[in-house]
Amino acid sequence: DGTRRPLIAGNWKMHGLKVPAARTLGEIIEGYDPALRAGVDLLVCPPAPLLHMFSVVAVGSRVAIGAQDCHAEPLGAFTGEVSAEMIADAGATMVIVGHSERRAYCGESDGVVRGKALAARRARLTPIICVGETRQERDAGQALEVVGTQLFASVPDGPCDFVVAYEPVWAIGTGLTPTAQDVADMHAFMRDGLCKRFGAAADGVRLLYGGSVKPANAGELLAIADVDGALVGGASLVAADFLAIAGAA
Ligand code: PEP
Repeated sequence: DGTRRPLIAGNWKMHGLKVPAARTLGEIIEGYDPALRAGVDLLVCPPAPLLHMFSVVAVGSRVAIGAQDCHAEPLGAFTGEVSAEMIADAGATMVIVGHSERRAYCGESDGVVRGKALAARRARLTPIICVGETRQERDAGQALEVVGTQLFASVPDGPCDFVVAYEPVWAIGTGLTPTAQDVADMHAFMRDGLCKRFGAAADGVRLLYGGSVKPANAGELLAIADVDGALVGGASLVAADFLAIAGAA
C-alpha cells in the first residue's frame, strides 16, 4: 500500500551515554540524505535521559525521537516512572509500548500495554505496540493464535493512530529470523484482524517487523507485503548499519 510510508525505528534499549550517543545521532542525521528522507521515516528511541537532548539536536532534521516505554498515568506517586506527557514535553513524538523485554522482565500484560498505548494517545504520541510469540509457541504451531490474542488485547479501541511491531521473541538479539513466508503470513493475519475490527482505517496502520534486522537481511524482510518498516535493536546502535537498513526500505 503506497499510502504507508516505511518507518525504520531504532530501539537503543539500555545503551547510550551522552557523548558517544550524540555522535551516533549526528551521524544518523548527517547520513539521512534527501533521497532517503523523501521515502522513509526514521525514528531513534534512546534511553529516557537522552530524550530531551536528542529532540533538540534532531530539530529540523526530520529524524523523529521516541521513548522505549511510558507509564499509563499522566503524573503521580510512581517513583522512577516516566509519563507519556513527560516524553512529549521532552520533544519526542513516538513511544514503544509492550516490548517483549518489558513483557518478560517487568511482567507487563496486554492490559497494561493497552493502558500505555492509551496514555500515548492522550499525550499525542504515536505508540508502537509490540507483539510476538516465543520459540515454544511457534514450535507448538500457536504463533498466529498467540499474536492475534496479544494484538487484540494490546491495541485500544478508537482511532487507528498507532503502529504495530511484530517481534518474535526468539528472533530478538539472536541473529535468527523467521522465513519470509512466516513473516508474510503473520503480517497478513495482523492486517486482516485489524481490518475486521477497525474497517478500512486499518489499511493505514504501519506494521513493522522486528528481530535481528541487519543490513544483510533488511532488503528481503522489507520487501514482504504488509511489512511497512522495521524495529531495529542492535543494528540501530551503529549509524552506518541503521542507515543501510533504511536504504533498503
Ligand atoms: C528489538 O529489541 O526491538 C530488536 C528487534 O532487537 P534486535 O534487532 O537486536 O534483534
